[in-house]
Amino acid sequence: MPVTPADRLAAVQTAVAEAARRAERDPGEITVIAVTKFHPASLVRELAAAGHCDFGESRHQEAQSKTAELADLDLTWHFVGQLQSKKARQVRRYASVIHSIDRAGLVDALREVEPVDAFIQLNLTDDPARGGVTTDGLPALVDDVLHAPGIRLRGLMAVAPRDEEPRRAFARVREASERVRALAPDATALSMGMSGDFAEAIAEGATHLRIGSAITGNRPPRA
Ligand SMILES: *Cc1c(COP(=O)(O)O)cnc(C)c1O
Repeated sequence: MPVTPADRLAAVQTAVAEAARRAERDPGEITVIAVTKFHPASLVRELAAAGHCDFGESRHQEAQSKTAELADLDLTWHFVGQLQSKKARQVRRYASVIHSIDRAGLVDALREVEPVDAFIQLNLTDDPARGGVTTDGLPALVDDVLHAPGIRLRGLMAVAPRDEEPRRAFARVREASERVRALAPDATALSMGMSGDFAEAIAEGATHLRIGSAITGNRPPRA
């Protein structure tokens, strides 16, 4: 029997529960977001048929057409990629959660009456191209988000750098999150952990895992 995305999802859920148990955490407080970038809508349908409802995309155009194609399903879409301010309002139409707020200009572009859940992305590298706000810039950005109508700050998001032990990197996010909570007590969520490092992220308190290839299999060659 071929291994399907639904089989891989089940294996990931088992591994998540196991990592949660080791960390003495309740697996029920951890959301697995299946990141489906570069994969067709049919793969999302397969996972939805297996009962999954949280999906992530990182590129606006692809996400826009995929979510339109899947509008008959009751899914929660998470936008996890870098976001241009001029695309912000369009992303808001299909995404319930935005994981990548990293600057004041984007906060302005996202203001609206209708609320959206959001994470501030923290950059754990020295490279601004990786996306995310620096630790130094974090308090001011938290303040901007708290004063913007229509944005509910859920917590922090980060991607572990390639050249650092993931557990150490995620510990830095947890520490930053403690400082954020002094300003925004409800911003308790942590969006961190991908296919290769979700167990380490769970050990440091991750509440939202963004898992792509471990669920979808390898990305199809890009057209
Ligand atoms: C693609 C992507 C993921 C998932 O990565 P995998 O290594 O395939 O699990 C997570 N977060 C972001 C921001 C992504 O772009």
